[in-house]
Formats: sequence, structure tokens, C-alpha cells
Amino acid sequence: TQQAALQQERLRALGQMASGIAHDINNAISPVVLYTESLLETEAGLSAKARTNLEVIKRAIDDVAATVARMREFYRAREPQASQAPVDLNRLMQQVADLTRARWNDLPQQRGVTIRLAMEPLPDLPAVMGMEGEIREALTNLVFNAVDAMPEGGQLTMRTRLMEGAARRACVEVADSGVGMDEDTRRRCLEPFFTTKGERGTGLGLAMVYGMVERHGAGIEILSTPGKGTTMRVGFDVPASPEQGAPQAPVLALRRSV
Ligand code: ADP
Repeated sequence: TQQAALQQERLRALGQMASGIAHDINNAISPVVLYTESLLETEAGLSAKARTNLEVIKRAIDDVAATVARMREFYRAREPQASQAPVDLNRLMQQVADLTRARWNDLPQQRGVTIRLAMEPLPDLPAVMGMEGEIREALTNLVFNAVDAMPEGGQLTMRTRLMEGAARRACVEVADSGVGMDEDTRRRCLEPFFTTKGERGTGLGLAMVYGMVERHGAGIEILSTPGKGTTMRVGFDVPASPEQGAPQAPVLALRRSV
């Protein structure tokens, strides 16, 4: 757990740094944004060449602004407790499946690849207290990663379950039958800017997921086997059941590797 505390401290420091850089870049580019827009909108006498060049500048600066927005998102301040509300994880999981359908259904099929979705909601899953938008965004990131991990197609599973251990947790799992992670990747994947996807990756997806997990006092488990697939499990504390004290299944029996 000292290892975990260290890792958290490191993430926090990186997040803070990302946030600081984002802030500075934002300040630096704001006059560029302002004057480029103003020139394009109000200067009637611009030559065609000047106009084209300004449009190129505008597109480039818009991209920078979008990157900065993503960086800041990652270190978004803790929302006030008041915005927490009961969240139905089964309903949320269905929403995420619908929201991401184009990514795992249509697009892969165009590449001659099939990804099948299995929904396995646990009936009567207790609601968790949380920020629905943040959890939805995190699950969306997990699904995108799962799809990325299955370039040859495979099975995407979205599952909710209840785990009884030291605490009682309502869990959402996103599992894939994809490439899996080696030990180094598994250990580092939550770090901001860690990516194995080269140009295509930002390394911020899981860092954002981890931010959500931290803000919810939740937990994340990463079960992965190279060549077999990955299960990402996020567990939220829920109140103990009334029949607490009745014999419970040991946590290990519920845990299974991919
Ligand atoms: P990105 O997707 O931009 O690379 P992430 O933070 O979302 O950034 O993921 C970091 C890295 O973790 C990925 O580059 C990949 O190596 C690994 N990873 C994440 N999810 C999976 C998965 N489902 N299967 C295999 N590897 C994964």
C-alpha cells in the first residue's frame, strides 16, 4: 500500500503539472485566438492569401485549445458533494453501450472485423452515490480502449456485479478479448501520458478514469493477460446490506482472471 500511496502521489504531481502547463498555454494562445478571429471576421480588405493563412492558423490554434481542454479535464477540481446523486449503474452501462455503438459495431465491421457485445447487468444492483456524467465518461473511455485492444475483433463484455468483501461494492466491468497488457503496461497504464499507441494515443484516457475513481472514493482493478484480454473493474462503495452477517461468498471466489 506504500507503493499505491507513492503511485497516487506521483499521479497527483503529474496532474498538477499538466494542469499548470495547460493554464500557461491557454494564456499564451488567447491573444492568438482573439486576433485571428477578429481579423477573419472584421477585415474586409484581406488578400486571399492572408485569409487562407489566417484560416490555417485558426485551425491549428483550435487544435491546441482542444488538447489543452483535455489536459485540464484530467485535473478537474473535485465537484462539490452536492452534485452527487444516486446513479443506476445498469442504466448508465446501457447508455454507454448506445453512445459507443458506432465505435464497436459499425466501424469495426467496415474493416471486416466483428465485435460482439454482451450485456450482463446484475438485477437489483444498489444505486451508488456519484457524479453520473463523470462515471459515464470514464466508462466510455474504457469501452474505447477495449475496442482499440481488439483490432481483429472479439468480445466486449459490460457487466455489473456486487462484491462483498471488507466493504460492499457495486462494480462495473468492461472486459475485452483483445491483446491484453504486459506487466509493465499494466502497472503504468493509469499514469497520465502513458500510451503504447504512439501518435494515436494521448495516454490520458485511463488517467481520467483514475481521476473519477479517486473523486468517488472508489477502486479500480485491472485484470489482464497478454494475448487473452483485459477486464477493467471499477467498484463503488455501497451501504452494507440489511442481512449483513449472513454468510458471504469470499471475494476470491468472485474474482476471476481473463
Ligand atoms: P491511450 O488509449 O490514449 O493510449 P489510456 O490512458 O486510455 O491512453 O491507456 C493507456 C495505455 O494502457 C494504452 O496505450 C494501452 O497500452 C493500455 N490499455 C488500456 N486499456 C487497454 C485494454 N483494454 N487492453 C490492452 N491495453 C490497454
